[in-house]
Amino acid sequence: DQGLQKSSENIFSRLGKAVVGKSKVDEEILDELEEILITSDVGVDTTIKIIRRIEARVSRDKYVNTAELDLILREEVIGLLEENQSVDLADFDLPADKKPYVIMVVGVNGVGKTTTIGKLAHQFKQAGKSVVLGAADTFRAAAVDQLILWGKRVDVPVISHGMNTDPASVAFDTVKKAVEMNADVVIVDTAGRLHTKVNLMNELTKIKRVMQKFIEDAPHEILLVLDGSTGQNAFLQAKEFTKATDINALAITKLDGTAKGGVVIGISDQFKIPVKYIGVGEKMTDLQVFNRKEFVDSLFK
Ligand code: GDP
Repeated sequence: DQGLQKSSENIFSRLGKAVVGKSKVDEEILDELEEILITSDVGVDTTIKIIRRIEARVSRDKYVNTAELDLILREEVIGLLEENQSVDLADFDLPADKKPYVIMVVGVNGVGKTTTIGKLAHQFKQAGKSVVLGAADTFRAAAVDQLILWGKRVDVPVISHGMNTDPASVAFDTVKKAVEMNADVVIVDTAGRLHTKVNLMNELTKIKRVMQKFIEDAPHEILLVLDGSTGQNAFLQAKEFTKATDINALAITKLDGTAKGGVVIGISDQFKIPVKYIGVGEKMTDLQVFNRKEFVDSLFK
């Protein structure tokens, strides 16, 4: 179970209502499905792609019973996720040949970036890994303080120089410390001030460069954190961040507060980036590795 809110508002229960009293999948039902997908934050382009694929199956098979429609939709959505999601992680695994594994975390304020870093640190620690955190979101005092708090809570060291210090210098000291400690994983928080895109780009580039003084291919993961309950805003942020840097993993938070979840399908499809983690609550255990089948199943309930 991937934690989505169970309610009559999810994609499949709405589809169930739309097909009541109808036996054949026709234009009208496909129009309804289109509306359901769009209002579930799947996004217009991905919705059209899904509808076209279903239409093709309906015309190929001449007749599709409405009772089969949810099965077909499920197959198409899983298929779509599979195209960008080469693997489902088995667990909070780290590649054995990259030590320390360096994760740079980006995202705008309020999406749950600090919380996600704290949860990740907890999960890696539980898995027996040693973790170092870097507080390089130095623009906000709250971000630094919160990360330090998370470090205490999950008992991992946090490198911080306080507020308004140079983020690259924090990143430098964090990776340095991790190398000295022979740590398994480094997670560096960064500022996400999208209104100054050039600055953001420069800052992220600078952080990457200092990391590479220690580890040639760092950062191994540039994780973009998005708030799954914000629909189109999450799409816009993904668009801006993918322009600014090479995002190669997504964490989508706050899926516990929404019955929609369609944002996961749309963003993964539009940006061709795997969803690696999902946030399903505020506690340190409320982070899961993304599993496409379980996720789609949770949209069915
Ligand atoms: P940041 O500004 O991006 O670092 O955001 P924070 O990590 O401070 O999180 C902002 C708020 O969202 C906090 O109240 C968190 O507890 C909450 N939050 C983060 N992730 C989740 C989640 O997966 N589910 C829920 N319900 N709340 C979350």
